[in-house]
Amino acid sequence: MKQSLNRLSNKMTAVLSMIFKTAQKQADHKKLTHHIVELNKKQSSLEIISEVALCLKDILNYRLFAFVIKKENSVDIWLDPRMYKKSLENIVLKDFNIKNKESLNYLNHTFHDDEQEEKFDMKDLVFYELTDEDCYSRIYMLPQNQMYDHHDEVVHLILQGCSTALSRQIKMEQLRTAAVMDSLTGCYNRREFENQLKRNISRAVRHKNDLSVFMFDLDHFKNVNDTYGHLAGDKVLQEVTRIVKNNIRADDILARYGGEEFIVIMPETSKTKAMELADRLRIKISNKLIVHGDDTIKVTASFGVSELTKSADMARIIQDADTMLYKAKLNGRNTVMPGLIKVVYNQKSAKAIL
Ligand code: GH3
Ligand code: MG
Ligand code: MG
Repeated sequence: MKQSLNRLSNKMTAVLSMIFKTAQKQADHKKLTHHIVELNKKQSSLEIISEVALCLKDILNYRLFAFVIKKENSVDIWLDPRMYKKSLENIVLKDFNIKNKESLNYLNHTFHDDEQEEKFDMKDLVFYELTDEDCYSRIYMLPQNQMYDHHDEVVHLILQGCSTALSRQIKMEQLRTAAVMDSLTGCYNRREFENQLKRNISRAVRHKNDLSVFMFDLDHFKNVNDTYGHLAGDKVLQEVTRIVKNNIRADDILARYGGEEFIVIMPETSKTKAMELADRLRIKISNKLIVHGDDTIKVTASFGVSELTKSADMARIIQDADTMLYKAKLNGRNTVMPGLIKVVYNQKSAKAIL
């Protein structure tokens, strides 16, 4: 009698556990469907990954979660903001063979070295990976609840949804970038320059700030192409833009205005400061030795500087810079117009020598 009661009780436990598991599985799948629908509405990597984190939290109640995406030139990382782990960061650096942790791009959090470390057991960490034509991603997780067989399937399904959403988003980003960038030099194209100038003029007017621009054009560039070939000319354009990019502020905007003509917008910058910067760039460009194959090429550039006038006229600021650039060409090239006037005091006579 006792034996048969025991058997019955074991059977009941097995049946209940199966019912529980089935009910749990159904509930988890319902949650999963909801999150996958939400995933498809997201517009940015950050939103997509946050939704994945939410889904996994909902279903697995993880203690720790990290999402790492390796793209062509960068590694993006999303870390559970509640339990940010230095030890996990070290695992990621090792797994992705990253020497310099500065090259990790934190999507949702910035790591602080003094952040409190909460202990967790590294051996309980599970990870899933995802390979796509555009990116490789990996999820690290420390689940809190018991993981059932169907949870692997849940994670794979949400990762598939995530991969589709991320690929779509990366492609959109590439298209958006292609629409605003010049492919040879990697600076903004003329159309985007006009958008940016419009925006920056409105901001300058609103905050009563200065705004200057300078236009520059390579001198006798046709000769470079004729002497060294078009590819060498392309290399010169890339090198010159690199010099300029490396010497302007993050808020300054460099655009290719036409063939070998460029323009820089400098928010919150007076005309004098813009002239000084233009002159420093002029010197750097003229000193640069550009190596292409067996050839070493030197170029110079002429600059025209202008500033936002009271009328806040967008066409006017461009036209003024263009007029000044034309004057710089007439003045013998390799020069900035209007030019800086150096005042040197002769101590004896205390006379200004211009
Ligand atoms: P100036 O000092 O008066 O500006 O003389 P320049 O020779 O620079 O001016 P010009 O307008 O006569 O010639 C510009 C040259 O720039 C001609 C054109 O083939 C070249 N160019 C324009 N875009 C590109 C490009 O993308 N790559 C290369 N290699 N050359 C380009
Ligand atoms: Mg030129
Ligand atoms: Mg030109």
